[in-house]
Amino acid sequence: MKIIMLGAPGAGKGTQAKKIAEKYQIPHISTGDIFRANIKAGTELGNKAKTYMDQGLLVPDELVVDLVVDRLAQEDCANGYVLDGFPRTIPQAESLDAALAKLGEKMEYAIDVNVPDENIVKRMGGRRACVGCGATYHIEFNPPKKEGTCDSCGENLILRDDDKPETVQKRLGVYHEQTQPLIDYYTNAGILKTVDGTVDMNDVFTSIVQILGE
Ligand code: ADP
Ligand code: ADP
Ligand code: ZN
Repeated sequence: MKIIMLGAPGAGKGTQAKKIAEKYQIPHISTGDIFRANIKAGTELGNKAKTYMDQGLLVPDELVVDLVVDRLAQEDCANGYVLDGFPRTIPQAESLDAALAKLGEKMEYAIDVNVPDENIVKRMGGRRACVGCGATYHIEFNPPKKEGTCDSCGENLILRDDDKPETVQKRLGVYHEQTQPLIDYYTNAGILKTVDGTVDMNDVFTSIVQILGE
């Protein structure tokens, strides 16, 4: 099962991708998580990516595409995967299709988690991310058992720098300009599925399961 998650920053892609990965036993591949892990480890890639991420801009395609294509060639991806945060531009989508075509494969589902901009700004201010495992919480909609502490790994939860309101506005602009065209791209490819992302996260997941099958 090969799945792409589409949607604005904060739409709930990561939240749903985690649930999909668990239910269907496929890896959850988040390019944002990969970059943050590289930043934490102080790699060259991390240092390069950080300058863009801090400004709310996309990391250039050439720093992203090979990374993802290499990841998809790993053994645990043999039965599929859920891609979260990639592709984010038309050239990324075209490169992904080309890489899959070489293997005689095709993307199967592009799930658009639809949430209007007004809801996004509120959500992002309440998002807390684990510095250890990347898990995300929301102070109101999905609080951890113990305030400020990750349920799964016990590390600290933080408000990401790029989740501050100014940067969120910038990222929304970048989303509409560079990522939203992918909706047409995958509609034309015949694999776009849209779910309402404004409802409770468990109900969003129910709609996704209806698409993917039990
Ligand atoms: P969100 O889900 O909140 O939008 P992510 O964790 O997916 O955030 O991404 C954080 C940042 O990492 C993005 O704002 C962007 O700078 C960078 N990034 C992640 N994935 C990509 C990608 N496919 N192409 C370019 N930049 C990316
Ligand atoms: P994305 O990966 O698209 O950037 P996340 O999955 O990190 O989005 O979700 C953004 C924030 O909104 C998180 O704090 C998350 O807990 C919260 N959230 C996710 N889905 C919902 C939902 N359906 N209703 C309310 N809050 C949600
Ligand atoms: Zn954690």
